[in-house]
Amino acid sequence: MYCNLCGNREDNTRMFKINICRECFAEITSLSPIDDDYEKYMNLIRLILSYYISPRAQLNPVN
Ligand SMILES: [Zn+2]
Repeated sequence: MYCNLCGNREDNTRMFKINICRECFAEITSLSPIDDDYEKYMNLIRLILSYYISPRAQLNPVN
């Protein structure tokens, strides 16, 4: 299984309906609101949650 965030294929965790590698998971969980990447990852988390809410949602969130 490939990480749905970065495409790496290693140590993936199944979180909600997506696969996420340990590296991405660690990055997300260690972010703080002052981090430059915070906004970027919040968008990813929203995407993840949208998968959870709508399991059949497509990869492309833009309609
Ligand atoms: Zn990853």
